[in-house]
Amino acid sequence: RNGDLQATLRRLDGAPYGRYKSLAGRWDVAGVAVELVRAQADPYAPPARVAVHVPASVAGFPAGLYGTPLRRRALAGFLARRAAAEAGDGVLVDGGGQEVLQRSSCQVGADGAVTLRLNVPLPGPRRRIDGRAAEEILCRGLPRLAERALRYEALDADAVRRFVETVEDSCALRDALPGLGLVAFVADGAVLPRRSGVDDRPARGAGVVPFRSPDALRVTVGLPHAGAVSGMGVPEGVTLVVGGGFHGKSTLLRALESGVYDHVPGDGRELVVARHETVKVRAEDGRRVERVDLHAFVSHLPTGQDTTDFRTDNASGSTSQAASIVEAVEAGARVLLVDEDTAATNLMIRDARMQALVAKAREPLTPFVDLVGSLHRDHGVSTVLVMGGSGDYMEVADRVVMMDGYRPADVTARARELAAVPTGRRAEADAFPAVVHRRPDPASVDGTVRGRLRVTARGTDALVLGEHTVDVRALEQITDSRQVVGVGLALGLLVRAGHLDGRRTLSAALDLLDRQLAEGVAPLLALRDEDFALPRRFEVAAALNRLRTLTVVR
Ligand code: ADP
Ligand code: MG
Repeated sequence: RNGDLQATLRRLDGAPYGRYKSLAGRWDVAGVAVELVRAQADPYAPPARVAVHVPASVAGFPAGLYGTPLRRRALAGFLARRAAAEAGDGVLVDGGGQEVLQRSSCQVGADGAVTLRLNVPLPGPRRRIDGRAAEEILCRGLPRLAERALRYEALDADAVRRFVETVEDSCALRDALPGLGLVAFVADGAVLPRRSGVDDRPARGAGVVPFRSPDALRVTVGLPHAGAVSGMGVPEGVTLVVGGGFHGKSTLLRALESGVYDHVPGDGRELVVARHETVKVRAEDGRRVERVDLHAFVSHLPTGQDTTDFRTDNASGSTSQAASIVEAVEAGARVLLVDEDTAATNLMIRDARMQALVAKAREPLTPFVDLVGSLHRDHGVSTVLVMGGSGDYMEVADRVVMMDGYRPADVTARARELAAVPTGRRAEADAFPAVVHRRPDPASVDGTVRGRLRVTARGTDALVLGEHTVDVRALEQITDSRQVVGVGLALGLLVRAGHLDGRRTLSAALDLLDRQLAEGVAPLLALRDEDFALPRRFEVAAALNRLRTLTVVR
């Protein structure tokens, strides 16, 4: 917009609060452009949405920091964090947590220009525009924020470079996994434990034991910046993690869950990576299941229900976990992560004595132990499983890693010896069947309220989509509430872009979504300009699968 924001604000001083709307558009202010995207409706409504555009000439980043999409994501991640730390006046910038995700809050263009999107409370005592205070925030505060956080000159050049290189190394390492026959890698020296259950920063202090690979599993990988790094390679196949309680099994698995994302320098998990297509599955009783073929795991239920086409509004622990496994494979998972702490015991194991006592004819469940091998052999889906409480998995594991005082050891050979001694247990299945692909009805994924897409997050517990609430607590790879919003917007895009058209399978629709989001946040921003982080296809699918209104054809 041509014209002077400062003069306009002075003119509006004392005007009714609603007149802030008249400022919509883009204003040149002190070398940057301040764009009012959405005004605040009244002083108690959510803050205004504002974008600050910094031209490349002002931002001044060397081309090496933004030459590839990956570097642009990393640089934007750095800048969002700086801006979040520098913001004052009640201005809110979504800086993000330990993971470096694509966020709507900051984008770096291919030409090196920077856009910051933020939330600005517009001052309005007694429902009148306070022109002077607004001028202080919009005409001085925001340019000052850009000056301090979005310009190369003002930043610690080493810190910026290190951030970008860290992300680039993580990506290179993750991309190297398939070629090495690995599903995950944990670098020597990595710090896996977190500060607390609610604080994702690295644990610190003398008690922290840095990771050290067993020699038998040590792999060395060359990275663009860090050079040769060594650590534990988790091979494809079935990997069992055993060990005493409190010896660090779940902590290792959680680090692998998070290894689908890149981490900020200093996180401790910068070089802990897992294949992109890694999905944590768990039991979740009470969830909905819509027409999933569960017959691999469940047959002849007491209700007589057809388990090849299973639906319920209230799944049990075991059926919920079975559904989540089948759905993950349907969505394209290549690696499953399972922890005994959050698994349904009766889906995981059925030992020799129980087989003797309860005849197969009276037990609807086929335990995972009899299917996990075929999942890999016949479908290329590997599993990493934490199981300290049952030895039956030794028979099917390709590798057994024992955590002992937070140090992993390769105990595969000993486990093989033990597995060679028969327990009298009989396998209850010989193959995992092909997954039946479902075709979701887009009309059943309606996210609108009175014609408008409505997406909000309740922390990381729930996604409110249109009139409905989706419980997402079991989606443990969701990083933060902003990614929950990203999941909701992606569901909106699946429908609005026509990816879900009633004929296309969910998996084909997710392929189209992935292709569209490979460009970045723009397609979701076009639906709604607010703070969100890009989700993975697996969490989008998982949220869809938990939608209580979902209907599908097969
Ligand atoms: P398990 O699953 O084997 O019972 P956890 O992974 O839950 O054990 O870990 C138990 C405790 O040990 C947790 O409080 C965790 O933060 C801590 N811990 C895990 N790994 C380490 C480590 N490498 N150094 C220090 N403490 C750790
Ligand atoms: Mg545990």
